[in-house]
Amino acid sequence: LIRFDQVTKRFGSNTVLDNLDFSVSSGKHVTLIGPSGSGKTTILRLLMTLIKPDEGTIKVDGDYLTHEDKGGKLVPAGEKHTREVRKKIGMVFQQFNLFPNMRVLRNITEAPVNVLGLNKDEAETRARELLDLVGLGDKCDAYPTQLSGGQQQRVAIARALAMRPQVMLLDEVTSALDPELVAGVLDVLRDIAHTTDITMLCVTHEMNFARDISDDVLMFDSGRVIESGPPEKIFTEPEHERTREFLSAVL
Ligand code: ATP
Repeated sequence: LIRFDQVTKRFGSNTVLDNLDFSVSSGKHVTLIGPSGSGKTTILRLLMTLIKPDEGTIKVDGDYLTHEDKGGKLVPAGEKHTREVRKKIGMVFQQFNLFPNMRVLRNITEAPVNVLGLNKDEAETRARELLDLVGLGDKCDAYPTQLSGGQQQRVAIARALAMRPQVMLLDEVTSALDPELVAGVLDVLRDIAHTTDITMLCVTHEMNFARDISDDVLMFDSGRVIESGPPEKIFTEPEHERTREFLSAVL
């Protein structure tokens, strides 16, 4: 469903991703781990088209995200093409980024109504179902500031799901939360991982969570995948010295 081919991304003289190849199959849950600065967030930002690769191509669900295929020739993607491909992707950020002036329900219905063209009733019915799913069925009329960080993050998860994405990108979604609120958010995500067929690509420092939900774990170092495999293997018998060092520092 996601395919990076020879992707290089530089910021000035800093090569953050170096000829990166990796793919995520439909319905799989893949977690990116690795030291700070190794390029994990850059991968998610490329998928959200917040930044562009310097070299290489990215495909989502068979379509180029970065390019358009014009009669067999690849040309840089236009706005409209990018927007269409990006609709398949939902993202939850470290900071919840809810609209502060809108009640919870409207935070969730806004994009489905304006972008997908759902009518208001349909969008509200779906939003209420999603709020039930994240355990906040009674908070439809609250404003974001009336909620805890953990509740706001659960609204952000519901908001991403409301767009019916094929892929959810999760970027350190619990790192801005008070420790006692982390478990509630991770439980919701575990539930989604185990009960839906949505594809997930996560960057997380929560290794137990990664172990629970991942089909595959990719260990990054200096813009490259140095090791990958199922969590049982990566967490218990990593092959690479860098992976061992990293895990002993975080576990
Ligand atoms: P962390 O776990 O700390 O979030 P990460 O693996 O997600 O780390 P990235 O955020 O992808 O790492 O950053 C990789 C490198 O790219 C870092 O050295 C960072 O300083 C650099 N970088 C990221 N964004 C920019 C930018 N907009 N301009 C310049 N350098 C950037």
